[in-house]
Amino acid sequence: MAPSAYPAWNRPSDPFIELISAATLADRVAELGRAITADYVAAGATEDVVVLGVLKGSVLFMADLVRHIALPVTLDFIGVASYGDATVSSGVVQITQDLTRPIAGKHVLVVEDIVDTGHTLSYLLANLATRGPASLKLCSLLHKPERSEREVPIDYLGFTIPNKFVVGYGLDVSQRYRNLPFIGYVAGA
Ligand code: 5GP
Repeated sequence: MAPSAYPAWNRPSDPFIELISAATLADRVAELGRAITADYVAAGATEDVVVLGVLKGSVLFMADLVRHIALPVTLDFIGVASYGDATVSSGVVQITQDLTRPIAGKHVLVVEDIVDTGHTLSYLLANLATRGPASLKLCSLLHKPERSEREVPIDYLGFTIPNKFVVGYGLDVSQRYRNLPFIGYVAGA
C-alpha cells in the first residue's frame, strides 16, 4: 500500500520515520516461513510443531508468518513482563500468562518481535527447555545487536536494526501503535 493510502495518523511521516516498509516486511516474513518449512521438513520434524508467540508484540508477525509455514502447526502464546527501564535492564523477567498446553515432546518455535538486551528470551528459552520439548528454536523479527547483554541464539532473524526505539507491526509505545503496518521510529530519537 502506498504511504498516501494509509489513514492520516498511520502515515510514515506522521509522526514516525519509516524504517522497514510493509512491503519489505511481507517479503521477508514469506522468506522466513519458507526457510522454516524447509528446515523442519529436512529434519523430519513435521509433526507436533507448536508455534509459540510471545505476547503481545509478536502477534502481527506471527499471524503473517504462520501463513507461510506449510506444516501442520498449533498455536499458543506466553506472556512475559520484564522489569527495568529503557537504559537499565534489571534482567528480572516474570511469566504473566502461561501456555495453554504442555510442550513436552513437541517441536517448539518461539516467535518474538525483537531481541534487544536479550534478557527476556534468555530467561524464556531456559524456562521452556525445562519442559522437555523435542526441539526448541527461536524466530525473531528484529535484533538490536548494539544493546545485547545476553547471548541469545536466534535461529531465524528478520532484520538487524540500529539502536532506535521502534514501533509498529506489533511493537508499541505505551500499548499504542501496534497496528501500524510498517516499522518506524520516532523522529529525532
Ligand atoms: P529484551 O529483554 O531483549 O531487552 O527486550 C525484550 C522486550 O523489550 C521486547 O519483547 C519488546 O517488548 C521490548 N522492546 C525492546 N526494544 C524495543 C523497541 O525498540 N521498541 C519496542 N516497542 N519495544 C522494544
